[in-house]
Amino acid sequence: MSGKQKGWKDLKLGCVVTEPGSASSTKTGEWRSERPIRDNTKCMKCGACYLYCPEGCINEDEDGFFATELYYCKGCGICAHECPRGVITMIEEEEE
Ligand code: SF4
Ligand code: SF4
Repeated sequence: MSGKQKGWKDLKLGCVVTEPGSASSTKTGEWRSERPIRDNTKCMKCGACYLYCPEGCINEDEDGFFATELYYCKGCGICAHECPRGVITMIEEEEE
């Protein structure tokens, strides 16, 4: 963690969001222990990973493939579990 991150003393009581529309500024993927990686050569562009991701952090690109926004990915592995082609593999995050 960098020294610029907020600590628990900086949070509002009850972790209330005080600025509407500010959720995207909180990089909630920082506590992830695993990350999804893709082998798009096997992808059939079905969109199941996109539909099942509970974070809504998978986006479709202009070619119809899907990519994970790792700033918000929690590493839950649901996308890997639901992919019918085994495109997505979860790998362990490494300490930096
Ligand atoms: S690991 Fe979980 S949060 Fe991350 S992209 Fe897959 S389904 Fe979404
Ligand atoms: S679920 Fe698998 S096959 Fe379907 S779009 Fe996602 S990565 Fe591709």
